[in-house]
Amino acid sequence: MQAVKITEHGGTDVIEYGEYPDPEVGRDEVLVDVKAGALNHLDVWVRRGLPTLSLEMPHVPGSDAAGIVEDVGPDVSRFEPGDRVALTAGVNCGDCEFCRHGDPTLCVNFHLIGEHVTGVHSEYAAVPEDNLIPVPERVDWITAGSSTLVFQTAWRMLIDRADLEAGESVLVLGASGGVGHAAVQIADYAGAEVYATGSTEEKLEHAREYGADHAVNYEQRDFAEWVREKTGKRGVDVVVDYVGAGTWRDSIKSLAKNGRLVTCGGTAGGNPKTDIPRIFWNQLNIIGSTMGTPGQVDDVMELVWDGTFEPATREVLPMSETARAHEIVEGRDGFGKVVVRPDSEY
Ligand SMILES: [Zn+2]
Repeated sequence: MQAVKITEHGGTDVIEYGEYPDPEVGRDEVLVDVKAGALNHLDVWVRRGLPTLSLEMPHVPGSDAAGIVEDVGPDVSRFEPGDRVALTAGVNCGDCEFCRHGDPTLCVNFHLIGEHVTGVHSEYAAVPEDNLIPVPERVDWITAGSSTLVFQTAWRMLIDRADLEAGESVLVLGASGGVGHAAVQIADYAGAEVYATGSTEEKLEHAREYGADHAVNYEQRDFAEWVREKTGKRGVDVVVDYVGAGTWRDSIKSLAKNGRLVTCGGTAGGNPKTDIPRIFWNQLNIIGSTMGTPGQVDDVMELVWDGTFEPATREVLPMSETARAHEIVEGRDGFGKVVVRPDSEY
């Protein structure tokens, strides 16, 4: 089969599309005929290489995909050939204290398909049954293949970890990114007053269409000052910051007393300067979040499948142009997800 593969860590020139051995289907695995799959910022980190990541090369990336079940292993009970499915990339052990207490995202062996093990940006992918959810007939492949990672991440961040309530105020940084545009929609759905940042008037307009009540161009205005002005110096109850470097201190500055800063990553850098005096004096809460539980995935994807939430697509490309897809993700142009399809499906 044909697959996207990286031969070593580095720039976009390490990405290839070509022959790769057909996947073997394990006892509890499902073989999926892949129709479409989105990139995530994670794919950029995996390509560049992380100190904690040791991969066998060539590595097939990709943590989002949807397609049709082609074959199932003997222990699979939930799916049969012909079923429409989407991947949810988190893998847990089932045995550790956190798994046994019912939260697999806290698993001490937690890892992601596409990051730590073979991903799904290929014509076929064999994945554990537990990592698939059914996709209704009415949902198109681009939507199905581009929404599970960012929507479960944003859902857990806001609804579970930040415990967002109707009437509260939320600031979403980078409202045009994958997690950002999901967070704007979820915060609006939860009944919050939504503040959003973006770098162009077009992105701000999109953010407003998706539910932002207020939007600001952070390249023209200090967003923390803007938030304090808009809220009568109070600040917001919750900030969603997955940017990290360059925004962290202003995120802290944007919070009301006892406010919550929730993060699922640092796309611009993971070790920003912080502001301890403001954290303790204002009694702020810094909250981490990763992926979502199976129940959280079901809850949020139901709302994607029924059209309540709409994943935005900035570009759809053949898998042979994955290098360009990385450039678009890294360049932060446009709004929403960059999706690739096997060249045979494009
Ligand atoms: Zn575990």
